[in-house]
Amino acid sequence: MELEEKKKALILQLIKNGYLKTKRIIDAFKKVPREEFVPERYKEFAYIDEPLPIGFGQTISAPHMVAVMTELLEPKRTDKVLEIGSGSGYQAAVLSRLVNYVYTIEVEAGLYEFAKNNLQRLGYKNIKIIHGDGSKGYPQAKPYDKIIVTCGTEKIYPEWIEQLKRNGVLVAPVGSPWIQTLVVGKKKNKNFVTKKLFRCMFVPLRRV
Ligand code: SAH
Repeated sequence: MELEEKKKALILQLIKNGYLKTKRIIDAFKKVPREEFVPERYKEFAYIDEPLPIGFGQTISAPHMVAVMTELLEPKRTDKVLEIGSGSGYQAAVLSRLVNYVYTIEVEAGLYEFAKNNLQRLGYKNIKIIHGDGSKGYPQAKPYDKIIVTCGTEKIYPEWIEQLKRNGVLVAPVGSPWIQTLVVGKKKNKNFVTKKLFRCMFVPLRRV
């Protein structure tokens, strides 16, 4: 099967299984070429619903996980989003088609370069990639409508909540370094209301 056919089949499967729901998000999935965000030797596996190695011991998340997290963020055209953990740049690319602007921060220098090259080569203009430790957020561009954490974090750092707008949404895998619970949180007037969803496995957040 050609890559394009595999892509169509995967997207249909993600819809059928309830991971993809929203028309605009489905369209974004159709537009972004996942094969361009993985090392050459993994291109043929780009449309299998699995995480894939991107070097430095890190992985690009499985398509269903990108679908679920993107749906949970309820992306709006006017949103300013912060992503912690750029990795390959794929999740940022998907979001950039749905929101106004994406800031994405990556701690690993080699992956910062990898994501930057991928996003530049493909011509994404509304994404700024930053090299640094995202556990402190990125105060330079706050406040954010949404924050998405794509590495397993032991806790929701207070800096993230502080940098969210009122009614802002945060999605993060929270737990131990290798097994977490996907948590969605909303910033209300005085408190931060969280809901635990399901078990997941992300590479751990590293603080520097
Ligand atoms: N969203 C990515 C996948 C992320 S994998 C994609 O679409 O490809 C998790 C990433 O988080 C890894 O690249 C890892 O290096 C990065 N990471 C770990 N700790 C971090 C931190 N403190 N700040 C920013 N990025 C971090």
